[in-house]
Amino acid sequence: MNTVKSVRELRAAVAQARAEGKQIAFVPTMGNLHAGHAALVEKAAQRADFVVASIFVNPLQFGPSEDLDKYPRTLLADQEKLVEAGCHLLFTPDVEEMYPHGMDGQTRVSVPGVSEGLCGASRPGHFEGVATVVSKLFNMVQPDLAIFGQKDFQQLAVIRTLVRDLNMPIQIIGEPTVRADDGLALSSRNGYLNTAQREVAPVLYRTLQEMATAIRAGERDYAKLVAVAQQQHSAAGFSPDYLEVREANSLRPATSDDRRLVILLAAFIGSTRLIDNLAFDLDTPG
Ligand code: AMP
Repeated sequence: MNTVKSVRELRAAVAQARAEGKQIAFVPTMGNLHAGHAALVEKAAQRADFVVASIFVNPLQFGPSEDLDKYPRTLLADQEKLVEAGCHLLFTPDVEEMYPHGMDGQTRVSVPGVSEGLCGASRPGHFEGVATVVSKLFNMVQPDLAIFGQKDFQQLAVIRTLVRDLNMPIQIIGEPTVRADDGLALSSRNGYLNTAQREVAPVLYRTLQEMATAIRAGERDYAKLVAVAQQQHSAAGFSPDYLEVREANSLRPATSDDRRLVILLAAFIGSTRLIDNLAFDLDTPG
């Protein structure tokens, strides 16, 4: 696997793969890779001949009081995992390479609708930062397909919408969330948890499953289910950020007639903010 830091080297390596007739798959990340990221790269290697990954902790998507500075940077370990998962080219630009003219005057991409509410409400500017950097990366790599995790369900909806609205000829593939044995969704931010916090963290996914089971059994009082789950989160030491039942395709608040649903949550434990979600189809047995 080749690691390059400049757009010029990236374009040259991708151009060579293209000249060899290869299909290009792309997996953007912020590094500190775990089995969830590896699953995306493995999928990319199954679907295309040449796999490009990027590691870039994008300042544009972090709020002023968020964890940009302490976000874990583990390049050597990440490179090993990428090689093992089948990656051919790693792009690790620095901030100057991505934003050579500074971030203030940078053209921004905003995706109305699906960006609003949920993480969009708790993290103002976050999805504009994501949509902008992903658009730039797509233009740099020009992949045939790109793979994202369903773990970031709203982000995936934002990317699908931006690719559709900006006519980008890129197939977007969403991959299921990889979890620890106790159900906790793998996340780089799990590394911030102390032992006691890590022990209680699986309550988040457990309550998502309980809510889905109740809805499958016919419960449609979503507000009641949310209140019960948030009580369990609070009892475990979490401060709820949001917990909502939405229609899975549009992300609008769910009605009692919707069949494709997603329950999404964000919650703080200490200063660590975790997100998770569970999508399900009432017409498909669970
Ligand atoms: P990040 O490095 O957190 O920006 O994530 C990079 C990509 O990995 C995104 O598409 C995420 O949705 C995906 N991802 C993160 N955690 C997981 C997970 N536990 N399972 C599957 N994909 C994940």
